[in-house]
Amino acid sequence: MAHILDDRQKQVSMAGANERTIDCNKASLAGSVSQRACVFCGSRVVLYPIVDALHVIHGPIGCAAYTWDIRGSLSSGPELHRLSYCTDLQEKDVIFGGEKKLYASIIELIELHQPKAAFIYTTCIVGVIGDDVEQICRTIQKEKGIPIIPVQSPGFQGSKKDGYKVACEAIFTLVGTKNKPFTPAKSINILGDFNLAGELWILLEYYKRMGVHVNATITGDGRVDDICNAHNAALNVVQCSGSMNYLAKMMKDEYNIPSMRVSYFGIEDMSDALYDVARFFKDDDMMEKARALVKEEFSRLIPELAWYKERLTGKKAAIYVGGAFKAISLVKALRLIGVETVIVGSQTGTTEDYELIKQLCDEGTIIVDDSNPVELAHFVKEKKADIFIGGVKERPIAHKIGLGFCDHNHERKEPLAGYEGMLNFAKEIYATAMSPVWRFTK
Ligand code: SF4
Repeated sequence: MAHILDDRQKQVSMAGANERTIDCNKASLAGSVSQRACVFCGSRVVLYPIVDALHVIHGPIGCAAYTWDIRGSLSSGPELHRLSYCTDLQEKDVIFGGEKKLYASIIELIELHQPKAAFIYTTCIVGVIGDDVEQICRTIQKEKGIPIIPVQSPGFQGSKKDGYKVACEAIFTLVGTKNKPFTPAKSINILGDFNLAGELWILLEYYKRMGVHVNATITGDGRVDDICNAHNAALNVVQCSGSMNYLAKMMKDEYNIPSMRVSYFGIEDMSDALYDVARFFKDDDMMEKARALVKEEFSRLIPELAWYKERLTGKKAAIYVGGAFKAISLVKALRLIGVETVIVGSQTGTTEDYELIKQLCDEGTIIVDDSNPVELAHFVKEKKADIFIGGVKERPIAHKIGLGFCDHNHERKEPLAGYEGMLNFAKEIYATAMSPVWRFTK
C-alpha cells in the first residue's frame, strides 16, 4: 500500500477473520493531512446548538468563519446561536493582549441580546499570547449575573475529540445549578443529537408517543435552563457517543444518572433505541407503545424501501465520518437498501468500534482510522465505490474524482434520523448514485 505513510500502515485494516486489529485512538501523524478538525472546532460543534446562549470566539476572524451559520442545527425558538461573534484579533492585540477587547465585546453583546449564558471560546493565538479569559469570565459573571463560561479550546492542543471533552466540561458547569418545580419520574435527557434539519423533533415525537418525558436536549435545540435542570432526569440517552460520553460519565459520577448508547440512524438501530429506553423503565405499557410505533413505521416504510433496494442492489459505498458508531449504523442502513459498503473509516473510532465494524462488514472491506485525502481517494478508486458518504471535508474528495456524495454531517438540510430519515437517506443515495451526470466524468 504505497499510498499509505509507513507510520500509518497499522491504522488501516480489512474486514475478515484473520485481519489485524486496527491501531487507533492516537494523535494524528504530523504531515499526514488528517481529516480531523481542531479542538476549537470540536467544542464549537457541540455547543453551537444551545440556541439561547451567546457564543463569542476570542481569536482571529478566520476561526469564526468556519462556524458562522453553515450548520444545520435548527431552533424552535431563539436563534442567537446562529450569530457567531468574534473579537477579530489583529496584530496589535497579539502584541499587547486582547483582554480589554474581549471584556468590552462580551459586555456589549450581553446588553444587546440579554442571553441566558455565554460561552467564550479561546483559539490558537489566545493559547499562545495567554490572555486570562477565565478571569474576564469570572468578572463579567459577577457583574451581569449570568453564567459566563470559558471554553479553553486553542486548536493546536489536540484534535476535534479533545474539543468534545472541553465542551462537555463547559456544559457540566451548568448542570445542577437550577431545579425546575417538577420533573416527571420517567424522564430522559437526549445527549448528542444536534437537531440537524429538525431531526430532534422527529425523536421527540417518538418518545412522546411512548410516554417518555424529555427533560433536556443536549445540545440540539438546547436551552440553558433545561441543561441547568438536566441532573433531575432518570436516564441519559447518548447518541454520537464520541462527543457526549464525557458528559454522561461526569453526570453518572456526580448525580448517579445512568446512561445508554444509542443510534437513531437506520431502522434497526432506531427501533433498538426505543426498546432500550422502554426496557430501562421496566414499563410494559411503554414497551407496548414502542412496539406499536415500530410496527406502524415498518409497515409504512418497508414497501417504500423495497423500491429503492431493487434499483440500488449492486452499488458500492464508501463511508468516512467523525464517529465510528454512526458508521456502524450506516453500514446496516445501506445493506437494507441493497448497497454494499466497501470502505469504512472514522476520525475518532475506538478499538471496540472497529472490531464491531470488522464483524459487520463483508470480507475485504477496507477499514481505516484517521485517514487523509490521498488515502481516501486511492481507496475509493481501488474499490470502485459508486457513492461517498461523509462530511464537509470529504465532499471535494468525492467530487474531484467524479463520484456521487451524500452529506451525513452537520451541514445537511435533510433529516436522516428516525424512520422518515431512513426514507430520506434511501432517496438521497438513489438520486446521487443513479444520477446520469456521472456518465460525463472520467
Ligand atoms: S486550528 Fe487554531 S487558528 Fe485554526 S480554526 Fe482552530 S483555533 Fe482557529
